[in-house]
Amino acid sequence: MHLRTSLAAVTATGLISGLVLATPLGATAAQPPGGADPRPTTKAPTAIGKGGAVTTVDPEASAAGLKVLKAGGNAVDAAVAAAATLGVTEPYSAGIGGGGYFVYYNAKTGKVRTIDGRETAPSKMPQDAFIDPATGKPYNFTPELVTSGVSVGTPGTLATWDKALANWGTWSLGEALAPATKVATRGFKVDETFRQQTLDNEERFRAFKDTKKLFLRGGDAPAVGSIFRNPDLAATYRTIAEKGTSAFYRGPLARLMSDVVRKPRTTKNTKLPTPKGYLTPRDLRDYKVRSQRATKISYRGHDVYGMAPSSSGGTTVGEALNILERYDLSKMTTEQALHHYLEASALAFADRGKYVGDPAFVDVPVKRLLDDKFAAERACSLDPARAAKKPVAAGDVTSYDGVCGPASAKGTTDTDTENISTTNLTVADKWGNVVEYTLTIEQTGGSGITVPGHGFLLNNELTDFSTVYDAADPNRIQPGKRPRSSMSPTIVLKDGKPFLALGSPGGSTIITTVLQMLVNRIDLGMTIEEAIAAPRASQRNTASVTAEPAFIDAYGPALTALGHTLAPAGDAFTSAAEIGAATAIEFGPGKRLTAVAEPSRRGKGAAKVVDPQ
Ligand code: GLU
Repeated sequence: MHLRTSLAAVTATGLISGLVLATPLGATAAQPPGGADPRPTTKAPTAIGKGGAVTTVDPEASAAGLKVLKAGGNAVDAAVAAAATLGVTEPYSAGIGGGGYFVYYNAKTGKVRTIDGRETAPSKMPQDAFIDPATGKPYNFTPELVTSGVSVGTPGTLATWDKALANWGTWSLGEALAPATKVATRGFKVDETFRQQTLDNEERFRAFKDTKKLFLRGGDAPAVGSIFRNPDLAATYRTIAEKGTSAFYRGPLARLMSDVVRKPRTTKNTKLPTPKGYLTPRDLRDYKVRSQRATKISYRGHDVYGMAPSSSGGTTVGEALNILERYDLSKMTTEQALHHYLEASALAFADRGKYVGDPAFVDVPVKRLLDDKFAAERACSLDPARAAKKPVAAGDVTSYDGVCGPASAKGTTDTDTENISTTNLTVADKWGNVVEYTLTIEQTGGSGITVPGHGFLLNNELTDFSTVYDAADPNRIQPGKRPRSSMSPTIVLKDGKPFLALGSPGGSTIITTVLQMLVNRIDLGMTIEEAIAAPRASQRNTASVTAEPAFIDAYGPALTALGHTLAPAGDAFTSAAEIGAATAIEFGPGKRLTAVAEPSRRGKGAAKVVDPQ
């Protein structure tokens, strides 16, 4: 398959020792004389320069992507290499056991294209899968639904990498997996975030034999500063590199994944209930990514491209922007602008809940949701001087004329059970191609189930379905369906050229994080560094706004006076009171690239450019 790179050229740079995948990219040449430890551990959250850029939450992943760019690979090759490395160093957030959404700007055609690599519900998943057969009552969300086989969807990540490389890459899958294989083999340095995430998951990781063995070696979470190796994952990557995606979607590994989902291998002493799931080898064999058009709206002279359903990212960010475009936020005080941002988010979330699900199963009115006239009518419910009582009602996409009429019906709130794991990366190359990619295994630590001897965790993505079955709900469980996502990889063009690419993890707060960063950058006069660092708040059509402590300190009194209730971020699953872990690249002026990652959230991120300035 597409072995199109000039391997000779790559070899000549000394960055790759041929296609021997056991000694992949960067194997020896990257080591300085004297054999100093080659592991990249420095995190610089901003990098400015030209010739290409990579930004992720992790220094190893960013370094892997950068090496690919330096060796002549393009943005897609580098994105896959970085993502595969995140599967090693961020195994609780992403990996081949999960899914995600890949957005690509093609400099040659000027078009934005996307790949929907979301997990699917197994074909045998019944609509009452979230009801405990023993009691006839719904499973508790935590631990039963989260830590179990029942929420494991058919993984789409590997198929996404393969498709992206086949469509737009210049490297083979084997080549793109090589840097990650190396990191898995030689190990990475454990930081505080990795240790803390392991500790946050300790009880459920102990519940599964293979997870305990992999992540709680010697009975404890890996110590900060120790080297964590994952030879099982290295071997899995090597096998895939040799045999292609069929080594994952068919044969022994497919059978093994199905087995552990249908009969989780729990430890003897665990008290956790771990319901069985439905994944079959056939589900894996039949899995297909979807190539589809991005959503597109215009916002103050920018074209904003996002992820279409099955993600609700593109429609919800887009609708909120369309509402906000009706107000000149730049002339308001920050508090007033934030009030508008929060209220527009709530309105867009109401429509997300009513209308968005997997378009292969339900009609999603994408065009109408993104119609300026619809936004004009939705804006009628936004009082510039007072927060509306939440939940606000959804709009009526079947009849609107952009003219304010009598107030609409009562709202309903979706139960928000989405978790806050996931990881995001942004890559640009010297040819002007751009990748924005968000990938996840859902909860930090996914289902908790490690595939025996293969070094990766399986997702619990199906918890993104509505937990209570309602035949009118677009996000109800249906076999083969993709659960609605909030992932919002976004690429913004100005005059047809990339201006900004950005995305974040954070469950349903992903939508508001991306929206808030866009407002910060486009309306509030912040630089992209300031836009990413600014304290965050998230209104998802619920009684209170989830906010970071710094946001509450800065804007709490003013927003409370406008009728908002603010509650500190953080939940039972994580010890951090923060929202998101974004990455972004801004383009220009000229060839200048400003790559940014978080300056402090999630232990801060790592941005890198090919030619630093
Ligand atoms: N499952 C979530 C989604 O697809 C992502 C989880 C997360 O960001 O932690 O929207």
